[in-house]
Amino acid sequence: MQLVPALLPSLIKAINHAIETHAEEVTALDQAIGDGDHVTNLQRGIKALTAQSEELAQLEWAAAWKKIGMTMMTAVGGASGSLYGTLFVAMGKAARERSVMSEVERALDLQAFAEIFSKGVDAVKQRGKADAGEKTMLDVLIPVAASLRQAAADSVTLPVALENVARTAVAGMESTRDMLATKGRASFLEERSRGHIDAGAKTSQLMICALVAVLAEHLTAPT
Ligand code: ADP
Ligand code: MG
Repeated sequence: MQLVPALLPSLIKAINHAIETHAEEVTALDQAIGDGDHVTNLQRGIKALTAQSEELAQLEWAAAWKKIGMTMMTAVGGASGSLYGTLFVAMGKAARERSVMSEVERALDLQAFAEIFSKGVDAVKQRGKADAGEKTMLDVLIPVAASLRQAAADSVTLPVALENVARTAVAGMESTRDMLATKGRASFLEERSRGHIDAGAKTSQLMICALVAVLAEHLTAPT
């Protein structure tokens, strides 16, 4: 399998389905410790991406991520809009810099993706002035980036890397349950923020697991 932007329409479709299926559950999480709008915010972004998906499929990765990021920033709104937007804009920038240096074509390898995703996650940390352990989407994104870098360093096969990523995303999401929120709206609740999974961590995990499932299926499909 090649990791090419032509996969984007099926990846966006899978994300849409995952968020749709868990909409009530995530809304309940955001109602418990936020303001309840996280799913509708995200769905606005995914709808905009769906409308652009054929166009995105024609681009190179750097341009595709930049466009995805800009769309998320304008369409999603809320704290998560600027953070998810930052993730993809920074990934686009990292891909652009990398392609200038080393001629990354349309297809990515695990090493390149691990580096690019890690730069995106670093940008989210800076944008949100947040780090691991603060009960946000970063409690999924940071360990997933580390898992990708580890997989690349160990030269594991793509199926193994994908399995590790999915497991890491679920563990990261679960880990937010007992955390004290120190960033975002949930932090206003102080100790009462404990005992609920963070909505942004949940949607990050759902989207990552949906992406993994599509990629794993492509791996086994006859070429
Ligand atoms: P809002 O909080 O503005 O209503 P959303 O409901 O769309 O925005 O998104 C809330 C999610 O954004 C949280 O569940 C959390 O994961 C994430 N979040 C909020 N603030 C930060 C931050 N400073 N850094 C990282 N993630 C954050
Ligand atoms: Mg909200």
